[in-house]
Amino acid sequence: PGTLYIVATPIGNLGDLSPRAEKVLSSVAIVAAEDTRHSGRLLQHLGLSKPMIALHEHNERERFDRVLKELLAGKDLALISDAGTPLISDPGYVVVREARAAGIRVSPIPGPCALVTALSAAGLPTDRFLFAGFLPAKRTGRKSALEALKREPATLVFYESPHRILDTLADLVSVLGGERELVLGRELTKTFETFYSGSAEDVLAELQTDPHGSKGEFVVVVRGAEASGRAEAGSQLDVDKLLGLLLAELP
Ligand code: SAM
Repeated sequence: PGTLYIVATPIGNLGDLSPRAEKVLSSVAIVAAEDTRHSGRLLQHLGLSKPMIALHEHNERERFDRVLKELLAGKDLALISDAGTPLISDPGYVVVREARAAGIRVSPIPGPCALVTALSAAGLPTDRFLFAGFLPAKRTGRKSALEALKREPATLVFYESPHRILDTLADLVSVLGGERELVLGRELTKTFETFYSGSAEDVLAELQTDPHGSKGEFVVVVRGAEASGRAEAGSQLDVDKLLGLLLAELP
């Protein structure tokens, strides 16, 4: 059978397509893409014209039969998404899983990924981080998702769209507190690349007053909860209280 290549493409700056990604894209028989029109433009830019299979979240399972047939016929296939690394908040999971189960070689061609790009320049701890993808679109769901992450000590990373960024930041302030440090990466690798950093309430205020603030694509990086500090202070108090009670009982 052929090989299924999982190829990362740029998240904005076309110069970020790796030479290896370009080589693979030009060598495969078929390109499976999330949006064939969008990815068609990338291929055109590379001077390539390839048969394409449209593969999005809703038809992944059904289209897999076609993908599998081509692979079993010995053809190499490249899976790409609209931007960045496939499967990272993008389709492909079913295809990769089923291809592996069918004994097909799946080979990653690494490259841009918005979450790693943001983390690499945010200046928040990266030894442990929790990528939570997109928060729920509705306020109640979003707030309870944030509530569940409130005490997480690892750095938190979210993706957000321009029309929800202000609402999400407002919910972050109300659930995690306005003091929580955050770094917002906007339009990474593109002409209007901007980082906003500071306390959650300051970043929200800055974005609200910036005329271009809520335009573009965003990665939200949030400092994890201060795990030890407060918890220890709390248990210290309990120990003091307990000691007081015990001492009072002493003859
Ligand atoms: N697979 C992609 C990756 O590897 O990063 C992510 C796809 S997800 C559907 C799209 C989201 O990624 C956007 O809503 C935004 O949160 C983030 N994103 C993608 N490109 C970005 C960029 N250039 N700057 C900031 N965020 C970006």
